[in-house]
Amino acid sequence: MPNIIEKSLKELQEEFKNLGLPAFRAKQVYKWIHHKLTFSFDEMTDLPKELRDRLKEQYSIETLRVKHKTKAKDGTVKYLFELADGKAIESVFIKTKDDRKTVCLSTQVGCPLDCLFCATGKLGFNRNLTAAEIISQAYLIANEHPDISNLVYMGMGEPFLNYDNVMRSVAIFTSDEGANFGQRRITISTCGLADKIKEFAEEKTQVRLAVSLNSADDALRGKLMPVNRKFPLTVLRQSLEYYSKTSNRMVTLEYVMLDGVNDREADLKKLINFCRGLDCKVNLIRFNRFGHDFRPSRVEAIDHFVKGLLGAQINAVVRRSRGEAIGAACGQLALRPVEGLAGKTSN
Ligand code: SF4
Repeated sequence: MPNIIEKSLKELQEEFKNLGLPAFRAKQVYKWIHHKLTFSFDEMTDLPKELRDRLKEQYSIETLRVKHKTKAKDGTVKYLFELADGKAIESVFIKTKDDRKTVCLSTQVGCPLDCLFCATGKLGFNRNLTAAEIISQAYLIANEHPDISNLVYMGMGEPFLNYDNVMRSVAIFTSDEGANFGQRRITISTCGLADKIKEFAEEKTQVRLAVSLNSADDALRGKLMPVNRKFPLTVLRQSLEYYSKTSNRMVTLEYVMLDGVNDREADLKKLINFCRGLDCKVNLIRFNRFGHDFRPSRVEAIDHFVKGLLGAQINAVVRRSRGEAIGAACGQLALRPVEGLAGKTSN
């Protein structure tokens, strides 16, 4: 049975027409789901009972099950969701001091790309999420934390390996008749699939793009991120130039700083060369430990990178990653419950 959560309004209107139902009914149902975040036909009280029963025969309205929640002292909440087939994913709610409320969404069960510094990559790949599963993460979290201000596709998985479902979820989040979420408040983060970056450049959208760069040296990046062997830096750089030219938008380059690995003077020089002439901003991110392979860079090394980039007229900021204590920070999502923490809750 198709899940009604991932239907666009246009699709619903067409399907309702084929069922002999008036178009305004489709709008009503769409609003219940995407505006009022209601996931039961029985709660759609302005629909006649016969219609509700008919919809139950035609569609499912299935969301995810919250299996576990872990709350950090900084307000970050990590959600472990169970999918209908028993698989699990994680999503994160992050509240920052400037009152931003961000939901970090997963797009795959596991991830096939095996970046060396990422806990999700260690899980291997299981399957892509459906658009309904992506949308449900945001809506279930929004039901507990209203007024979500930002959505970031930076959780488990590579969003551009699940391109169609990701773009379908974006279209539904941003539709006027539904959640009406601002396009500029959504960011999709890729590890650098150059072909998909070009495809994304062609989309008529203001959704932001972030690229997980982490090194501007082919040999090192190839070790840290095996995907670099398929899309080396020159190819990635060309796709980003194409993106800027075609979409007129800036790209954010994410750079996770690893002590003694990618934070040396030579690494800074290569990063500056990569960024020169590109419409970009660099986010320097302190590494969140999950094992023993890498250590986070020292504060002085991070400061040196910021100064070096700013001195070369390249926009750069240090991004504080939240939720580290509960394994909810960048690159830490690995389906592990974290025991013994204050504020932990469990469903
Ligand atoms: S960093 Fe992203 S692309 Fe790389 S393994 Fe982790 S989830 Fe996959």
